[in-house]
Amino acid sequence: MINIADSLNSAYANIKQLAIKHHRDPNTVELLAVSKTKPIESIVDAYQQGHRKFGENYASELDQKVKDLSQYPDIEWHFIGPIQSNKTKLIANNCDWVHSIDREKIAIRLSEQRQTSRGKLNVLIQVNIDAEDSKAGVLLADVPALAELISNTPNLNLRGIMAIPRKSDDLSQQTHAFEQLNDCFVALKAVYKQVDTLSMGMSGDIEAAITHGSTMVRIGTAIFGAREPKR
Ligand SMILES: *Cc1c(COP(=O)(O)O)cnc(C)c1O
Repeated sequence: MINIADSLNSAYANIKQLAIKHHRDPNTVELLAVSKTKPIESIVDAYQQGHRKFGENYASELDQKVKDLSQYPDIEWHFIGPIQSNKTKLIANNCDWVHSIDREKIAIRLSEQRQTSRGKLNVLIQVNIDAEDSKAGVLLADVPALAELISNTPNLNLRGIMAIPRKSDDLSQQTHAFEQLNDCFVALKAVYKQVDTLSMGMSGDIEAAITHGSTMVRIGTAIFGAREPKR
C-alpha cells in the first residue's frame, strides 16, 4: 500500500526542485492529483494533507465522487478525460475545470448546460500535439478558432490549453512538443488576458514540461499507486 501523504509530499518536492533547477518560481507550477479509479478514501487522505485539486476522467465516476465528498466543498474538481456529448451535462455541473475540450459542439453544450449559479466553468482546449489518430484534441492550427468560439460563450472561461504528448524517452522529442505547446499558450495569452494555464507534464515527462512553461502537471499513479489494469 502506498502512503499517500509521503507520495504527495515527494511530488510537491519534485516539482519544487525541478522548478528551481529551471529558473522558475515553484509557485507557478501547480499539481493536479489524478484520482481516477481511486476510492474516495484516497482522495480524503490527500485532502487531509492540504491538497485540493483532483483530476477525474469518467463523468459518472466524477458525479459519484462529488456526491460522496460533498462535505468537502473546497475540493477543486478537474475533468481531464475524453468527453462524450451525452455526458456534458454531468461534467458541466460537477466540476470547476475541464481540460479536454476538443470540439465546438462540446464547448457549446458545456456552456448551455452549466448552471449559471455556479459561475463560469474554467476550460482548457486539448491539443493533439503529435496529430495522433488515437488521441483527442484539436490540431495546433485549429486552436485559435476554437478559442474564439469559447470566448464568445456565456458560461465558459477560457484559461488555456492541455496536451498529452506522445510517450517518449527521447528528451529532444519531448522538448519539441512542449516548445510548440508553450508557443501556442503564449500566443493565446496575448489575445485573451484571462489565459494563464498550460496543463502539460506527467510522471515520465515532468521535467521537460516544467522546463518549457507548464503551469500544471498531472500526476496519478505516483501519488495514489497503480490503477487496476481495466475498469
Ligand atoms: C491518467 C491521466 C494522468 C495521470 O497519469 P498517471 O500515469 O496515473 O500519473 C494525467 N493526465 C491525464 C489526461 C490522464 O488521463
